[in-house]
Amino acid sequence: MTKPLRLALIGIGKIARDQHLPAIAADPGLALVAAVSRNANVEGVANFRDITALIASGLPIDAVSICTPPLGRHAIAAAALAAGWHVMLEKPPGATLGEVRDLVSRVGAQSLFASWHSRAAAGVGPARAWLAGRRIDQMRIDWHEDIRVWHPGQDWILAAGGLGVFDPGINALSIVTAILPGRLRLVSARLVFPKGRGSPIAVRLALQHGVAPIVADFDFRAQGEPRWDIAVETDAGPLLLREGGRRLWIDGREQALAEVGEYAGLYRHFAGLIAAGAGDCDLTPLELVADAFLLGERVESEAFEF
Ligand code: NAP
Repeated sequence: MTKPLRLALIGIGKIARDQHLPAIAADPGLALVAAVSRNANVEGVANFRDITALIASGLPIDAVSICTPPLGRHAIAAAALAAGWHVMLEKPPGATLGEVRDLVSRVGAQSLFASWHSRAAAGVGPARAWLAGRRIDQMRIDWHEDIRVWHPGQDWILAAGGLGVFDPGINALSIVTAILPGRLRLVSARLVFPKGRGSPIAVRLALQHGVAPIVADFDFRAQGEPRWDIAVETDAGPLLLREGGRRLWIDGREQALAEVGEYAGLYRHFAGLIAAGAGDCDLTPLELVADAFLLGERVESEAFEF
């Protein structure tokens, strides 16, 4: 049996605790040996306040998984790569396209994995397989959630570089770019910035896939049950992904799907990349977000407080 991958988890916040720690603990191929966070600690492993302290400790590490907010991640990932470690990035892989491309240019023998957890949702693979070879006529994306419920107190998310509602919305874009053959193109965008905030709280996108129009509506101001839906009209009937890709209907009938853990799948993929000496850094979802910031009309709404 090969030795488990010695892993450090960096940025111990909501997603690290909700998903990464349980997925790592359940995978016999992984051994969590360190946590790096300015304020938080993980029990039972060595804790460090920053990556410089982790590197200086000389603790043997094979890989890091980075769960800090996107702004500031580049410096952490660059330091990890310079230390010779494999790197897995939470989504979005960075605050800009340029900084992620810079990371790719720094890779030597290590693996760099820009993860998109929603692509590992149970319905995404079957949706891609069913859509292959079908004519796409139109598509509608609704990604509505209450920022106060899903991102409590996360001021960084509405600051410049935090992506605002694109933080969840990019999950929809990661699914759509995985299930449709060929590229999507942004046609227009409308971004709503709360007064005094640097990132949008609501966004409407018009996109094009071939001649098929796609409308995407992302809204952080929704209350009640979240809505994470992608509806596709095709020449062979409708396809509907709900709950962020976890449930799938084809032609009105719900499909039985194999139960998968998104993060278990991500870590398996990361280990596979390392074993194969490969990387995986697809930037197409972040390109669409960048295009929306380049092209979009900006409007201001009333101030928002958590
Ligand atoms: P979070 O709860 O704010 O956790 C991020 C942690 O990173 C913080 O607790 C903080 O811990 C550390 N950190 C380091 N530098 C920071 C900075 N400048 N500002 C704020 N925190 C900083 O955020 P999260 O929800 O876990 O999201 C982190 C990443 O995971 C984002 O890219 C997000 O898109 C992604 N993600 C989140 C979810 C979700 O449901 N929340 C789902 C999937 C992916 P210390 O104070 O101890 O340093």
